[in-house]
Amino acid sequence: MQRRATVMKVCRRQYAVGEMTDWFVLLPTAYCPTSLFPSYLSIVNTPPLTITFLGTGTSSGVPMIACECAVCTSKNEKDTRLRSSIMVQSPSTTIVVDTTPDFRYQMLREKVKRLDAVLFTHPHKDHIAGLDDVRAFNYFQEQAMEVYANPMTIDALMREFAYAFADKKYPGVPNIELNTIGLEAFSVGNIPIVPLQVWHLKMPVFAFRFGDFTYITDANRIDESEKEKIWGSKIVVVNALRKEKHISHYSLDEAIALVQELQVPEAYFTHISHQLGRHDEIENILPEGMHLAYDGLELHV
Ligand SMILES: [Zn+2]
Ligand SMILES: [Zn+2]
Repeated sequence: MQRRATVMKVCRRQYAVGEMTDWFVLLPTAYCPTSLFPSYLSIVNTPPLTITFLGTGTSSGVPMIACECAVCTSKNEKDTRLRSSIMVQSPSTTIVVDTTPDFRYQMLREKVKRLDAVLFTHPHKDHIAGLDDVRAFNYFQEQAMEVYANPMTIDALMREFAYAFADKKYPGVPNIELNTIGLEAFSVGNIPIVPLQVWHLKMPVFAFRFGDFTYITDANRIDESEKEKIWGSKIVVVNALRKEKHISHYSLDEAIALVQELQVPEAYFTHISHQLGRHDEIENILPEGMHLAYDGLELHV
């Protein structure tokens, strides 16, 4: 047990990218537990990335239809939240995580001219509904859109967008190339991606680590073995639905506690409900290094 504990500690330090890399690479893989070694190499080989929050709202969006609460009627544009999604860009590659019901508008707002792939976290409607609009990228790029998801999400996509996968398709349907992924690291263009499994009540959901950046939406529990893969991240995004406890999302306090436990120095909260409160009020009470994300926010890692 003692030996194992020591090895785990060593590997955590190795996840601090840029530190001790030289001697780490000389270590035999046997010294690193589970399959973390290839994941680690993916992390150190990541180019500089720009992360854009396409949306930061929960499934209903903020404002919520017909709601007249103080958040939904706020004049602060940071209180307007489309459904949650991010765009991850290197100088040569653009990926989005999830295609929300607002995907078309999110692509127009950010003036996205090329999209290389879509990664899906899970099959809930607020994360997949916008997939049909990849048709525009099919048209201009003259190729299928590469989609990466777990088997449960792939099944849902084939069901919900059955016309795109029919034997006889009518003209103009989205052209989608489905790729089933598990927990092994993979790459899109020059961006290496490490999937992590987190829990959304009882549903397994993918979180994704891109270099020093980890994105966790729609979760309220993470197994210890998966937390290991987050260690050393410089920025983490975590869902924080509202102040009150929720059955399948972290509350604000739970999200803060998770960030503190993982010791990530910079954190942004997303998938926010109108029940959380106004952006400026909540932003002011957060611990140092923690922020509410807002639509259009850009991060550089
Ligand atoms: Zn959601
Ligand atoms: Zn969900």
